[in-house]
Parts: sequence; structure tokens; C-alpha cells
Amino acid sequence: MKKSDKRHIAILGSTGSIGTQALDVIQAHPDRFQVEVLTAHSNAELLAQQALKFKPNAVVIQSEENYAWLKDRLFDEGIKTYCGADALAEVVEMEAIDIVLTALVGFAGLRPTMRAIEAGKHIALANKETLVVAGEIVTSAARKAGVNIYPVDSEHSAIFQCMAGEFHNPVEKIYLTASGGPFRGYTYEQLKTVSPKNALKHPNWEMGAKITIDSASMMNKGLEVIEAKWLFGLNPEQIDVIVHPQSVLHSIVQFGDGSMKAQMGLPDMKLPIQYAMGYPERLQSDFPRFNFVDYPQLTFEQPDYESFRNLKLAFKAMSDGGNMPCILNAANEMAVDAFLNRGLGFTEMSDVIELAMQSVHFIGKPTLENYFETDAETRSFTNSRILEKIG
Ligand code: NAD
Ligand code: MG
Repeated sequence: MKKSDKRHIAILGSTGSIGTQALDVIQAHPDRFQVEVLTAHSNAELLAQQALKFKPNAVVIQSEENYAWLKDRLFDEGIKTYCGADALAEVVEMEAIDIVLTALVGFAGLRPTMRAIEAGKHIALANKETLVVAGEIVTSAARKAGVNIYPVDSEHSAIFQCMAGEFHNPVEKIYLTASGGPFRGYTYEQLKTVSPKNALKHPNWEMGAKITIDSASMMNKGLEVIEAKWLFGLNPEQIDVIVHPQSVLHSIVQFGDGSMKAQMGLPDMKLPIQYAMGYPERLQSDFPRFNFVDYPQLTFEQPDYESFRNLKLAFKAMSDGGNMPCILNAANEMAVDAFLNRGLGFTEMSDVIELAMQSVHFIGKPTLENYFETDAETRSFTNSRILEKIG
């Protein structure tokens, strides 16, 4: 990247944890990045503040409710304001955009990500659910369009960094590290009684609510296993998970000679966000530096697949293939919402996900349209199972 060459960026989900940290990175490198598009679900106030500061070409808000206010607020600045899911999918096609950072949550990322790829935009991918649901279609569309998918997830960024310069050397295996979350060491019986309040306290990372619950239930690691399969073109047997509570080794690649490369650093999402946006360059940063003395012990242990059933379910969904990961994801999105807002028990999340995987119509070779059908069918099935459980 030449110094004068600014990268023009669209941030989908700019008001969230990843979105706001991406804007911090951009603010620190105003000569490198130009914001073209910002989008949010419903936080119009923050979206307006961001827009006034970063002067994008356009903003999109998902919810109707605050649209008129936002439009009014940004009118004098000449910032175009749109509303709704169709606008979100269209805005990524804007000519000026080079990279789309997908930092929105869940299945809602699939359509705009596909549209961005088809319009030839590179993707900085935080929205792992998109690759979990439709990895085959998304990665083959990216190959066809000649666009790159740069991982933002810290584990996948670590693997991507370890693979630099190893183009001709096949990967034997990767180890995704997991912190183990706030309930590491809990028995299944203990997990039954955990509350949303406790589950929302992650020991090492500050994140949005959905991924925080996924981290507590280990579904996050399950989703990341599937994400890794598609990002790096691996077979299920080549992917393993190792619990590493200090979250300092961000993941490990093992090559054919037995040598292993790991990427390490303090747990700070700004680093992988910046690496994805600035690739192949490592931009200078003033992030806090790692001090070995603060971490005299780095420890590793096997995950507990019996207590954390979600991890096992995700491995099963990956090996079943077809639309099974889409079923897993939709059921999980419903279950997490019900755990947070409707009184579903922590371990009941795994119950309803397993039931959905056994019951929703399996499709071996799904089309993009099939994924939308599967997502809708799974949500409706899961909702009725949740209603039975919460009474
Ligand atoms: P968050 O909840 O903090 O933010 C989500 C953003 O997306 C918000 O701007 C919100 O307005 C927007 N959004 C939510 N639902 C939407 C919808 N239906 N339509 C349009 N916009 C919508 O979430 P986050 O923690 O920033 O996570 C974002 C994504 O990045 C997730 O897929 C998550 O798994 C992934 N990720 C996050 C982290 C992290 O540290 N936060 C780490 C790795 C991966
Ligand atoms: Mg991660």
C-alpha cells in the first residue's frame, strides 16, 4: 500500500464491539483509511456521532424507528441515509468501496457479504456466522470474483499470520485456542444453573452479548472450527481445539515436518482488526506490549466435550455438512436470545439445538436460497421447542 493510497472501507455493524474498535484503528491511521459506509441495527445516536466524525458517503440503519431522525440529523452533512435489510445489501456495492468489514451479528451477515463479494469487494470477516452457514458458497464466490477474505477473528488471524510465507507447505493440523470462558471446569450439573448475568462476564474479552454467551457455552469455538474449515480449506480431522485460559497464544499451525508456529500477543481485538484492514502491511500501533513476567505460566488442557455439548454438536454439524451447520447456527441464535431474554436454561440451549439438528429437513447440497429456507424453518422449529421448555 503506497502512503497516498487510502483504503476505502465499509463497516457493517459499526456501533458494535468490533465496529467501534475498527473505527479506533481508522482514527489512528487517517492517512490509510477512508470510511465510505457505516451501518447499525438500531443505535441511531451512536451511528450519527460516528457519521459526523468520519464523514462517510452513506449510512444504513436496520430499524425503521429511528430512520427519520437519523436522516434529518445527517442531511446537512450531505451523508446519504438509508434504512432496512435491502439497503444494507445494496450499499456494499458502491463503487468507491475497496473492503467491507462485516462486523454485524448472525445470519443477517450472509446477504450483504455475498453481495459485496459479487461486487468484487475484499472482505474483512468478523461475522463468522456467514461462513458457518454457507462456507462453501461464500468461499467459492470469493474465488470466482477474485476477492480475498481476511479473517478478523483472533484465532483465524493467528493462523493466517502463521501461514504467511508457507504457501507451498501443506498444513498438517491447526489448533484453535479457547479461553474456556467463565465456566471452565464446571460440571454439566453446575452449568444447568448458570444465569445470563454470570454468563455475560467473560474473563479475557469485552464483546457483544451474543458472542459472549457463545463463548460461555463453547459454541463460539464450535462456530470457529467450522469457520476455519472454510477459510483455510481444511478437512475436519485437521482441526483441533485446545483450552488455553490465558488467551495469549491465539492459535497454532502444525506443518508436515512437525514444526508448529503460533501467533501470540495480548488479547486485544484491535490487533487482528488492524491486520485484516491493513494486510499485508503491519501498521505501527501504540497498543500495550506483552510482558513475559506478567505471564509466568501458559497452560493448556483438553476441552470438556461432555459438559460443553455445543462443541460436540458443532463438530457433528461440520462432518454432516450440507445445511447442518446452518441448522446449528439458526437454532443457536434462537437459543442464545431465549437464554438472555426468555428464561431458557443454559444447558437447555444445547437441548434445542440438538433437537433442531435431528428434526429440520437435511439438504446435502444446498443452494443459497436453501439456506434462507433452512434458517427460517429452523427458527420456527426452535421457537416451538423453546416455548415448550419455558412453559
Ligand atoms: P455487537 O453486538 O457488539 O455488534 C453488532 C453490530 O451489528 C452492531 O453495530 C449492531 O447494530 C449490528 N447488527 C446487529 N444485528 C444486526 C442486523 N440484524 N442487521 C444489521 N445490523 C445488525 O457484536 P460484536 O461483538 O461486535 O460481534 C460482531 C461479529 O464479530 C459477530 O459475528 C462476532 O461473532 C464476531 N466477532 C466478535 C469478536 C469480539 O471481540 N467482539 C471477536 C471475534 C469475532
Ligand atoms: Mg475468536
